[in-house]
Amino acid sequence: MEIPFNKPYISGDEINFIKNCFESSRIAGDGSFTKKCHLFFEAEQKFNKVLLTPSCTDALEMSSILCDIRPGDHVIAPSYTFVSSVNPFVMRGADISFIDSEASNPNIDASKIEALICDRTKVIIVVHYAGISCDMDAILALADKYNLFVVEDAAQAIDSFYKGKRLGTLGHFATFSFHETKNIISGEGGMLVINKDEYVDRAEIIREKGTNRAAFFRGLVDKYGWVDIGSSFLPSDITAAILYAQISNINRIQGKRKLLWRKYFYELSDLVLQGYFQIPEIPEYATNNAHMFSIIVANTSERSALIEHLAKHEIQAVFHYQSLHRSSFFEGKHDGRELKYADIYSNQLLRLPMYYEMTEDMIEIVASTIKKFYLNQMNQKNIRE
Ligand SMILES: *Cc1c(COP(=O)(O)O)cnc(C)c1O
Repeated sequence: MEIPFNKPYISGDEINFIKNCFESSRIAGDGSFTKKCHLFFEAEQKFNKVLLTPSCTDALEMSSILCDIRPGDHVIAPSYTFVSSVNPFVMRGADISFIDSEASNPNIDASKIEALICDRTKVIIVVHYAGISCDMDAILALADKYNLFVVEDAAQAIDSFYKGKRLGTLGHFATFSFHETKNIISGEGGMLVINKDEYVDRAEIIREKGTNRAAFFRGLVDKYGWVDIGSSFLPSDITAAILYAQISNINRIQGKRKLLWRKYFYELSDLVLQGYFQIPEIPEYATNNAHMFSIIVANTSERSALIEHLAKHEIQAVFHYQSLHRSSFFEGKHDGRELKYADIYSNQLLRLPMYYEMTEDMIEIVASTIKKFYLNQMNQKNIRE
């Protein structure tokens, strides 16, 4: 049986909602499905203010503009992340200092941030890797002390919490992704969260090409025009229709993903206890939204061999980020600090298949195929010795 790494889940409501869009002849941005999605996130999930965007990357670009990033500003971010966490800040002229990951999981090591804060520092970007919260009390305390913005790249962190507080409600701004690889999807798609009221008007203007069109539609101004910089950051209502179908099924989707995650954990815990590989730790303050199941193996060649072994059994496992401080774009700009754990996750982390339509039997197959790999390896070692 072929087990791909990811398979986008379609609940069945998507096609009906898209039909509704066409029937209403409203398929541009901010139509009725966009409003329904906004209402879900604001009324049900209790976000202060949200705006759907065409992608999480776009929401991060909006954050960068809202933080008023200018050439020479300094931004702090984890190295072990996707390029979109920082690219929008670099595009506006920021210098980046990359921070190492924690030893126990890929999130930014909050204890390494303060030493890098200088007069030019404006923003700390945090990424809740695999939907597991960063150490937010420590990070928010630093932001308070030095008067910095906090932007949460919560692309993977839907339906997850830090000490009972929903991720995406903690920073000044937060960004979510609904790309087809995430838990809740619309093909491409994203969302900006604005947690401080004083930035809401400007966020709406930036999203509407720099115009006060949103205020005009609410009857707050009698004509609309160009008032600020901005771009086109509205998704089509068709995208919102897909998203609304997904969030209408969010509890079922999340329930199933969590079941699958626990099954992996149960099936692989023997190998972890025997020291064959590790599983990133979930700190006591964080919940697990079952975005990803990953393991940390001993070294890169073992990872390549395991990927190959799984592929032979038609199971697709993939590694993840290559640390940004080592990217060809940034290498020459990095200050030379060793980022030991970011390198470890770049070289040794392996993600296993994880999607709604997997069954517990499929998890057993993946786990037993991994077990066979390590038993073989052990036998070969014994023969050599
Ligand atoms: C997926 C992802 C993004 C990008 O999301 P898009 O919606 O594809 O722009 C950014 N940051 C992280 C951490 C991600 O996982």
